[in-house]
Amino acid sequence: MNRFLKYAVTGVQQLTPYLPGKPVEELERELGITNAIKLASNENPLGPSQKAVVAAQAILNKVNFYPDGSSHELRQSLAAKHGVAIDSISIGNGSNDILELIARTFLAPGLSAVFSEFSFAVYPIVVQAVGADARIAKAFSADHPVMPYGHDLDELLSQIDQQTRVVFIANPNNPTGTWLERQQLTDFLENVAENIIVVLDEAYYEYMPEDLKPDSEALIKRFSNLIVTRTFSKIYGLAGLRVGYSISHPDVADLLNRVRQPFNVNLIAQVAALSALDDNHHLQTSIAMNNSGLQQLSNGFDSLGLGFIPSIANFITVNLERAAAPVYESLLREGVIVRPVANYCLPNHLRITVGTEEQNRRVLDALERCIND
Ligand SMILES: *Cc1c(COP(=O)(O)O)cnc(C)c1O
Repeated sequence: MNRFLKYAVTGVQQLTPYLPGKPVEELERELGITNAIKLASNENPLGPSQKAVVAAQAILNKVNFYPDGSSHELRQSLAAKHGVAIDSISIGNGSNDILELIARTFLAPGLSAVFSEFSFAVYPIVVQAVGADARIAKAFSADHPVMPYGHDLDELLSQIDQQTRVVFIANPNNPTGTWLERQQLTDFLENVAENIIVVLDEAYYEYMPEDLKPDSEALIKRFSNLIVTRTFSKIYGLAGLRVGYSISHPDVADLLNRVRQPFNVNLIAQVAALSALDDNHHLQTSIAMNNSGLQQLSNGFDSLGLGFIPSIANFITVNLERAAAPVYESLLREGVIVRPVANYCLPNHLRITVGTEEQNRRVLDALERCIND
């Protein structure tokens, strides 16, 4: 029992910490092995852009200086990429930082945020940490004909009340990989009042097939209460540096900037992200590898007779139709780290990040042995 629990603010008393994927080094230390693979945190199996690595190395001698607190160059480059004013871009220490800034700016005790079942574990953390209420909308059921486990936007709408100030939507969603139709999303935004901030979390946007990608820039121009978040952690392969950003109305960005730590994004991260934006080859190679990897894993699950949630992200969530925890443990003993999702109320599923062809084969082979144990 934590002696100080009763002194913490109510929301924090009820929080459980975010559970990260197990690091490769930790597993290798525990098992005394050297060839473990991690497909647990949706990291890019190709590694970072080499342009970003070179830029990061070149700046190391300047870390005696504070970074540019306004991340001017990076914001300028992102503004050009998205065709928006620089004042529309906010930079965060990962997009997680942006989610936190949003909660601190728009939520407080007595107010609420709405999000779906099976959505990203960080939403309840940032909401409860500021003492606001989290209202959970029911997701589509496991046997929904179009989008099993997907966000049900009608349910989200019906959870909005007088106290609601923020709605979080992930598209595609983590840990399900499910997505929203463009028109559904637009209809939803038309039905949300302007005083309610809608956060569209697009951490996996770059992986989406072109015809499913919403025109996020057009939506931002049309709906001034919309905040779109993106990250350098996933396809750009810079998860360890912690950089993400948002696009919003400049007035919304101005408010986020008021609560932001002055130097929230470090010097190395800023220059690496800037160079990564320039590396279209890395981006295209990553997309191609992910597409064939998704196919490889889906085919593999089919052969093993395992169901899975259709995904357009860089991970896929497989249904073992029995407790996943023992299979997760067996996979660890094979040197394969995947992600249990029982904390998302999916105790029979495992989320597997799309790896290289060899890594995908290894996880499928290991899975075959482990489910037949
Ligand atoms: C990975 C992920 C993020 C990004 O986190 P960073 O803080 O940018 O590393 C945001 N939202 C979702 C849904 C994610 O899965």
